[in-house]
Amino acid sequence: MVETYSDNFVVQCLRCDTPTPEDREQDDIYCQECASPLVNKCTNDNTQHFGNHDDSCGITLDPEAVYCKKCATISLFASKELIENKYPDAEIASLHSQTQDEIPF
Ligand SMILES: [Zn+2]
Ligand SMILES: [Zn+2]
Repeated sequence: MVETYSDNFVVQCLRCDTPTPEDREQDDIYCQECASPLVNKCTNDNTQHFGNHDDSCGITLDPEAVYCKKCATISLFASKELIENKYPDAEIASLHSQTQDEIPF
């Protein structure tokens, strides 16, 4: 069980155990010691890069969540190996189905 503040930020860094300051800014989302993320999110977030809102997700997730509950994309914590991913094949399988379109020649 990972302890978090009410806004889902972990109370201490999952990698180096540095306490998360309570008076942090809202966008201080990385540990100052080791740069690991302090809040777990869906990594399917393209809005900043492509302006595509339709198929991006990027919701905040529980700190234990390995996959997004909305779109099954791997979570930020799992992608950084901060939490254990017991079923890494699930991510590979979903990537596989997206990139395996046959090229017509
Ligand atoms: Zn850290
Ligand atoms: Zn998602």
